[in-house]
Amino acid sequence: MVELAELENLQLAHALIRAGLRLSIVRGMAGIGTRTLRQWWKDVHGVRPPNGKLPESVLSYIKDKDSASRLSAFVALHRRLHGSELTPESFLTTWREFQRICGPIDINAAYFAVRDVKVGIVAFPRCDQCNAGFIYDAGSRHTDRCPFCDTRVLAD
Ligand SMILES: [Zn+2]
Repeated sequence: MVELAELENLQLAHALIRAGLRLSIVRGMAGIGTRTLRQWWKDVHGVRPPNGKLPESVLSYIKDKDSASRLSAFVALHRRLHGSELTPESFLTTWREFQRICGPIDINAAYFAVRDVKVGIVAFPRCDQCNAGFIYDAGSRHTDRCPFCDTRVLAD
């Protein structure tokens, strides 16, 4: 018999696949075998799962001020709800809540945003002017300033 915790884990992984989270990420989070996940993806989406390489960081998803502010808002919401925890359950909760409030967001971009702030690939300082947290990276004009009010600040 499958234990309750295991069943919950399977259900969460299935929900993440339905939401379109790439399988290598689901595998890393839920610890479920590739063959099972690939079969689920096919059942849910009716096509084979994408095979392409994943981007290196959230910065690949930040193409303009709009994506910078949406992904920053997602990280802020996740931190408010779950602190620095990043589990299938906490992530899925934030993703659903964010979409309820702000509309659709790419779940893969959202995952990278939370993960990259958590492991320190990008900084997440608070804006001096409007006090919003935002994804900071000196390498792009969309991430070297606050995407909400356009103020340039240095990360602390
Ligand atoms: Zn600001």
